[in-house]
Amino acid sequence: MSTIANNIAKVAARIREAAQAAGREPSTVGLLAVSKTQPAGAVREAFAAGLGDFGENYLQEALEKQALLADLPLNWHFIGPIQSNKTKAIAEHFDWVHSVDRLKIAQRLSDQRPAHLPPLNVCLQVNVSDEQSKSGCSESEARELVAAISALPRLRLRGLMCIPAPSDDAAVQRAAFARLRHLRDELDLCMDTLSMGMSQDLEAAIAEGATWVRIGTALFGARDYGRPQ
Ligand SMILES: *Cc1c(COP(=O)(O)O)cnc(C)c1O
Repeated sequence: MSTIANNIAKVAARIREAAQAAGREPSTVGLLAVSKTQPAGAVREAFAAGLGDFGENYLQEALEKQALLADLPLNWHFIGPIQSNKTKAIAEHFDWVHSVDRLKIAQRLSDQRPAHLPPLNVCLQVNVSDEQSKSGCSESEARELVAAISALPRLRLRGLMCIPAPSDDAAVQRAAFARLRHLRDELDLCMDTLSMGMSQDLEAAIAEGATWVRIGTALFGARDYGRPQ
C-alpha cells in the first residue's frame, strides 16, 4: 500500500472507532480530504484509494489542480477565507463552500452560481472560540445569517462549520464542537451538516456530531508551504 492509501486506512479506522464510541453509524461521518499545498498526484492517489471529496483553501491553486484532474469525478469543497473578487470562480468550480461567514459573500455566490449547475451547498462558518479569530461570524449573528442565506435561490444551506482554537485537551475540543452542535439544533431549518474536526481533533468532533471531518495532515503528511505548487 502507498503511504497515502495507508494513511487513509488509518484515518478511516479512527473515524469508525470514534463513531462507534458515540453510538453513531460510521457512514454518517464524511471524510473530506484537505489537499491544499498537495500536488495533483497526491489527489489522484487518494482518489484511487477510495476518496472522492477534496477541500482547498486557495483559489488559484485549486483551479490549477482541478484542471489537471478534470478526468476524475471529484467533488470539490472550498474551505478557506473568501474575498469578494473570488466568488465568481468559486461559484463556478466548486460543489460545496464551507467558509461562508457574511451575507455579501453568500449573495454573490448565489447570484454567480451558473444556471446549469445545481444549487451550491454551503455552510455558515461560526467562530466558536472566544479568541480573536479571523474568520467566522459570531454566534449571535448566526440566526439572522442563517435566515438570510436560506432565502437565496442558488444556494442550499446545509449547516454550520467551525475551526476552534487548537487545544490538546479533549474536553476543551469537545466543548467548542458542542457549541456548534447546540447552535445548529437551536436554529435548525433542516440543516443536516456539521463541518468540524481536523487531524488533531476528529474524535472530539465526531463525539459531538460532525458529519464532515476535514483532514489534511493525517492523510497527506505535513504541508510544505515553501514548495512551489
Ligand atoms: C488546513 C485545513 C484543514 C486540515 O487541517 P489538518 O490539521 O491538516 O488536518 C481543515 N480545515 C480547514 C479549514 C483548513 O484550512
